[in-house]
Amino acid sequence: MKEELSDNLRELHGRIVEACDEYDRDADDIIIVAITKTHPAVAIKRVVAAGIHNIGESRIQEAEPKIIEVGQIARFHMVGHLQSNKVKKAVELFDVIQSVDSYKLAEEIDRRAAEIDRIIECYVEVNCSGEDQKYGAAPGKVVELIQRVNYLDNINLTGLMTVGPLTDDREHIRRTFRMCQEIFKEGRDIVGDDFDTLSMGMTDDFELAIAEGSTMIRIGTGIFGPRED
Ligand SMILES: *Cc1c(COP(=O)(O)O)cnc(C)c1O
Repeated sequence: MKEELSDNLRELHGRIVEACDEYDRDADDIIIVAITKTHPAVAIKRVVAAGIHNIGESRIQEAEPKIIEVGQIARFHMVGHLQSNKVKKAVELFDVIQSVDSYKLAEEIDRRAAEIDRIIECYVEVNCSGEDQKYGAAPGKVVELIQRVNYLDNINLTGLMTVGPLTDDREHIRRTFRMCQEIFKEGRDIVGDDFDTLSMGMTDDFELAIAEGSTMIRIGTGIFGPRED
């Protein structure tokens, strides 16, 4: 298991370097978030020991005992859909909430963060692919959402997150990522230089995301192997 992890990480770094060479990016500008959903707490400890400092989880119930067990050994990112009744837990457990997709949710995050005297980092999630089973704000609504969330005192809005379309059509995936990059630039014009993270790309599509300006890739399968979910 340990050897498999280091082999997988070596392979992942190789793919990142190759994509950066091809698309004229700097590999140092790409942050890896290891997605540890379905894997036990020890998987978090191992991947942190291997040099990954950002960990992503998608369900509060699953993440809570794992984060409590390992402690503050990494930056924890909430990457899954967040229900209002889980926000209180989310602002206690996570350093970053990547899945802000409505103003109502943002207001609740802001309120709960204020209660514990915290300023929490958030990204707006964009449904760039337009697939209706996906979460995320519709692309046409994102700019207004950024403008409004940017006023909330206990949220530090620093980026965008998107999940690429589920298709084998690489050109379509790339076009979708390009649209997200354009919205990201608009966000930067609104928020300023602190708005510096474009969380885009997973195991099967991160090269295309890097081609389109991604600064953060979220990798599960490519680090831990296939999930049994
Ligand atoms: C599970 C998940 C990932 C990681 O997916 P892989 O294909 O296993 O790399 C990334 N982002 C989100 C939001 C996820 O839910």
